[in-house]
Amino acid sequence: MAVTAEAESPAARFLEQPKRMLVDGDWVEARNGSTFEVFDPALGEVIAHVPGGDAEDVDLAVAAARRAFEDSEWSRMTASDRGRVIWRIGDVILEHADELAEIESIDNGKPVGIARVADVELAADMFHYMAGFATKIYGQTFPISVLYAPGAQFHAYTLKEPIGVVGQIIPWNFPLLMAAWKVCPALATGCTIVLKPAEQTPLSAIRLGELTQEAGLPDGVLNIVTGLGETAGAAVAAHPGVDKVAFTGSTEVGKLIVQAASNDLKRVTLELGGKSPNVVFADADLETAIPGAANAIFFNHGQCCCAGSRLYIEQKIYDEVLQGVSDHAGKIKLGRGLDPDTEMGPLVSAEQLDRVKGFLDSGEREGVRTVTGGKQVGDRGYFVAPTVLDGASPGNKVYDEEIFGPVVTTLPFKDVSEVGAAANETIYGLAAGIWTNDLTKAHRLIPQLRAGTVWVNTYNIFDAALPFGGYKQSGWGREMGEEAIHEYTETKSVCIGL
Ligand code: NAP
Ligand code: MG
Repeated sequence: MAVTAEAESPAARFLEQPKRMLVDGDWVEARNGSTFEVFDPALGEVIAHVPGGDAEDVDLAVAAARRAFEDSEWSRMTASDRGRVIWRIGDVILEHADELAEIESIDNGKPVGIARVADVELAADMFHYMAGFATKIYGQTFPISVLYAPGAQFHAYTLKEPIGVVGQIIPWNFPLLMAAWKVCPALATGCTIVLKPAEQTPLSAIRLGELTQEAGLPDGVLNIVTGLGETAGAAVAAHPGVDKVAFTGSTEVGKLIVQAASNDLKRVTLELGGKSPNVVFADADLETAIPGAANAIFFNHGQCCCAGSRLYIEQKIYDEVLQGVSDHAGKIKLGRGLDPDTEMGPLVSAEQLDRVKGFLDSGEREGVRTVTGGKQVGDRGYFVAPTVLDGASPGNKVYDEEIFGPVVTTLPFKDVSEVGAAANETIYGLAAGIWTNDLTKAHRLIPQLRAGTVWVNTYNIFDAALPFGGYKQSGWGREMGEEAIHEYTETKSVCIGL
């Protein structure tokens, strides 16, 4: 299996090894003995066989996580030691950064240089950031005055306790980084985990599992069950031994997770789809705004939940910006992620290729004008040309629905209130962009936008400190920052009569 550019690289060696799942510190096969194929999306070739775990494996993983949560080295560990282990995982990720970037590039298709600076370094940073929270999770004291108990005295305070065993189900667009966003706050609070990576991209999660062992994470704290969503994923979401489920992926599956979790009212956080508006005013610095708008949609091949996929351009600069973004799209160099010249890789899978092509066909049928792109590139791998569609509006599938590919629709607007209303005409509310040099305009628009993140004169900026999540059908709860810590704790009020 000559799957990497660097035949003797650590990533190549990792790919050659048989793949197993991590349950209670052991690397195991699926109990049912099955495996599924993992593809290099640039070549359309099988690069690994991974255990097809199902409900039985999830049972074992949940039992291991429960033991680790209730009675283990981990449950007895001081907050300071817990923080040190989490920090060490961040260090070990950085020590293996090139290898992880290569694995991610081969498995997902993204350019290896981007995987290195975006996926891997941000993942390590998340561990380092959340390590510090382990020692900073505390409640409050309250001067209570209980009206119906005159003269009595009380000491009242809150404890912040870990939720318990958490099931985490992640997507394929940033496999390692999404694992880090999920795993880090859970570890910082002292929870234990059953992680289900996406079937398209399970490899970096498996390597992460090995690295957490190298860093000294005790057995059973992080369990990794590879398998399909309908079997392994559904079993995690419905399992009575799971106290919380955290999910990133499609809004459609997010709703299934909520239904499954409603059985026993387990805690749920969801980071779902988007159809994010990106608004360019005529007073913006177009030298920044045009490449910025292109990056907003084309970064990660448009496979970002927050992709700026609806571009609104003020009428008087419409032609100029449309042309500029289209020129930018036309120059993006497509190729295999491991090729250092590649700026955009393939879509992640044959299914995603078909899905995106289906959207492009529907746009054509509905008379939406293709300014550039609009088609598959080559006959090997899953490449789609960066695409700009002019004039799609409500009622067109390409305007209404999340495409999750390198496809942007553009529309002109006249003023702030018109574009504010248009920006919100979506079931989603994950992110939005504004490009302007007029502070008043920006501040008038920011509160109108029903979105969890608003970027002004920038886009796709993420930081471990900054909460991320959605309004409306883009999800429940927030990831990253201190808000993520609260999503993994329960509050216990304690009242002592003195
Ligand atoms: P998806 O089906 O929502 O998958 C996300 C995760 O959920 C995967 O681990 C998946 O496992 C799992 N899953 C699927 N069905 C499940 C179920 N019934 N119960 C529990 N877990 C389940 O997303 P996708 O199929 O990969 O992509 C479809 C669309 O989702 C994309 O085109 C895009 O619009 C959206 N999406 C959004 C994000 C985001 O970051 N918000 C990320 C990825 C995709 P399998 O991998 O085995 O299916
Ligand atoms: Mg799926």
